[in-house]
Amino acid sequence: MHAEVISIGDELTSGQRLDTNSQWLSQRLGELGIRTLYHCTVGDDLAANVRVFRTAAQRADVIVCTGGLGPTADDLTRQALADVLGVEWVFDEESYARIQAMFSRRKREMPERNRIQAMLPSGARVIPNPHGTAPGIDLDLPLGASPARVFALPGVPAEMREMWWATVEPALRELVGPRREVIKHRVIRCFGVGESDLEAMLPDLIKREHTPTVGITVSQATISLRITAIANSAEACDAWIEPTVATIQQCLGKLIFGDDEDELQHTIVRLLAARKQTLATIECGTGGLVADWFSEAAGETGVYLGGEVVRRPVESTAEAICRMAENCREQWGADIALAIGPFPSQEFTPDGVPPVVEVALANDGGVLARSAVFAGHPDILKPLTAKRALNYLRLLLLDD
Ligand code: AMP
Ligand code: MG
Repeated sequence: MHAEVISIGDELTSGQRLDTNSQWLSQRLGELGIRTLYHCTVGDDLAANVRVFRTAAQRADVIVCTGGLGPTADDLTRQALADVLGVEWVFDEESYARIQAMFSRRKREMPERNRIQAMLPSGARVIPNPHGTAPGIDLDLPLGASPARVFALPGVPAEMREMWWATVEPALRELVGPRREVIKHRVIRCFGVGESDLEAMLPDLIKREHTPTVGITVSQATISLRITAIANSAEACDAWIEPTVATIQQCLGKLIFGDDEDELQHTIVRLLAARKQTLATIECGTGGLVADWFSEAAGETGVYLGGEVVRRPVESTAEAICRMAENCREQWGADIALAIGPFPSQEFTPDGVPPVVEVALANDGGVLARSAVFAGHPDILKPLTAKRALNYLRLLLLDD
């Protein structure tokens, strides 16, 4: 079964916005065992949209498109699909009631033009949109050897994803039927060394012919090892994956901080929650990034008490940053405080040595000074420095 993903919008073809929906959708389709053979991006032009759908229907079994479902004159997906099918559009009472309800929940008058969002090509099924006005459309396009199943979703990524999980993914699962092969992934997340050093610590695993396959990717210095097994049951995949995981754990030890979608802050929050400890932060160079991360990761756990952002402290020596950590701990009444000093004004000193950012950790045992090397690609220096600081905190918690 092959898929085509279509992204619709002038903002995409004009280069104002990057099409991230296709990437996301193709990953999800792949997880269902459906290979995406074509990506097509098309502007807000009716004739062009009609052509794109015609072509796609002839060469794909599944078409997922996003965009062009809004209420304005440049939103043409409904009309394009009706034209390709050669049918009228019909008014869907239920969708209309939902759109009206959405506006009244937001205490807004419904503009007359939103009525158009309740129009569907005749014979189409509605894909409900719980958090937006535009419902999606599910229909069959019988142009190729066998009809192509089309799922049209809004362009807004959050709405698109929600509707995928609620409606499209279950429908595709049914379409694909029970599969003989199961693909399972395990992701191990590491921080603290470079990619090639890490690879060198893992003899033979990353080789192409190794099974299960182990892939390595890096994003802002966080290294992900993705172990993939294909077998005829989930249990068989796990049985295959486990020994590889054990080997990796043995080789990498504390470089591993989590799995799947974990970031360092999630691991730290878990460690702190397990010990019933609290954290406060004070940061200069990272400008609130660390506070943002912990606010999100801690949620309502009560682990993260709060943080302060200071642009330039009076002094930026290691001693001064240590005092900042101690004061922060006292002020917030936290078990542990993390202080991150200001960033140096340049990336390299005249003698070519990267400068450092002072980091300090205060707990009931006193205060610990650390120097995070201030080197890396300029675009990611801020998150990178924040991660280095977080990693000191993680290691402190592990060693404690
Ligand atoms: P639309 O459903 O065409 O009204 O799109 C609504 C908004 O979603 C657009 O203004 C974009 O900001 C965003 N959007 C649309 N298509 C994409 C896409 N393929 N990737 C990422 N964002 C998108
Ligand atoms: Mg649009």
